[in-house]
Amino acid sequence: MTDFIHLDGSQGEGGGQILRSALALSVVTGRPFRIDRIRAGRPRPGLMRQHLACVEAAARIGSATVEGAALGSGEITFTPVAVVPGSYEFRIASAGSTMLLLQTILPPLLLADQPSELLLEGGTHNPFAPPFPFIDQAFLPLLRRIGFDVEASLERPGFHPNGGGRCRVVIRPASTLKPLRLEGGAGAMPASLGAVVRLAGLSRQIGERELAVVRQRLGLATEHATVEVDTAAIGPGNTVHVSAAGEGFSNVFTGFGAPRVRAEQVAEEAAGAAERFLASGAAVDEHLADQLLLPLALARGGSFTTTEPSGHTRTNAQILREFLPVTITTEPVGPAAWRLQVDTQFVP
Ligand code: ATP
Repeated sequence: MTDFIHLDGSQGEGGGQILRSALALSVVTGRPFRIDRIRAGRPRPGLMRQHLACVEAAARIGSATVEGAALGSGEITFTPVAVVPGSYEFRIASAGSTMLLLQTILPPLLLADQPSELLLEGGTHNPFAPPFPFIDQAFLPLLRRIGFDVEASLERPGFHPNGGGRCRVVIRPASTLKPLRLEGGAGAMPASLGAVVRLAGLSRQIGERELAVVRQRLGLATEHATVEVDTAAIGPGNTVHVSAAGEGFSNVFTGFGAPRVRAEQVAEEAAGAAERFLASGAAVDEHLADQLLLPLALARGGSFTTTEPSGHTRTNAQILREFLPVTITTEPVGPAAWRLQVDTQFVP
């Protein structure tokens, strides 16, 4: 029998990402795992609805049997059989993040020898998760650079707490996979900054106040800062996205609007994150860093410069080491920049 992996879900950063990475890696490698103490340190520990949706989706993609998959469960056992590419629809009630669900099931489908089409419904612009523009402009372009063939389109945004967003993803078999190397920072290119405010069911004035802040703080010309109004969204929503163009992709920094949070504060969140990143001289931001490790480890490895490795990055590296013959090293390369190197023996 294939080695069974035991994971402590409370290790390191201790959040849902440990579970999602384990699901993706288990389906790719065919190695079963048991995880206990899932999200043990969080205020509402165990599987929440969005985590359960990820378990169920991974089980369908990987024809897996699962024990313990229930709301609030602190422990599951997951035994995959085979990856089944094809057409799938996944809906997450309560506005759970479709983008996190996508990151759970994407790795095995990217490596499959048949195409897949996904229809995802739920949240697409959730706080504490990659919003659609981040996936579309930052994460997927880098996957394509590695050699994966994947595209996503947004049909309707889904904001917290109403959800109801819809996104389609098309995946075709990968061509030759190449190492990813990202050394140059985006800091040398302030002219390639842009900002988009997304508004649904809220006064346009909110968007104008947000634009005023990002324009002033980042010195953006009017044509590089726009408001997009979504009439199709279910319920109100507001996000501010600042993008900093890199080599064929953009780093995307997001401020999430919420009741009783001032528009200026939402804009500062995005602009401040962009400013700190640009000052670092790194190529990718902290979120992209933790999310790139897994695809790199499954392809030909590579290296990138980033800001100080976060708890998510360190913990995700640890989960990768449990499943794959991979070496991940970190070295400082400047006062606010680090280089992460992924060397992998995994053969897709
Ligand atoms: P928890 O268990 O804390 O409730 P969770 O299941 O929602 O967590 P985490 O384990 O915290 O998820 O993982 C969140 C993921 O979302 C990480 O990969 C993180 O980098 C990413 N993320 C968070 N905020 C952003 C953002 N603004 N832009 C891009 N990615 C983000």
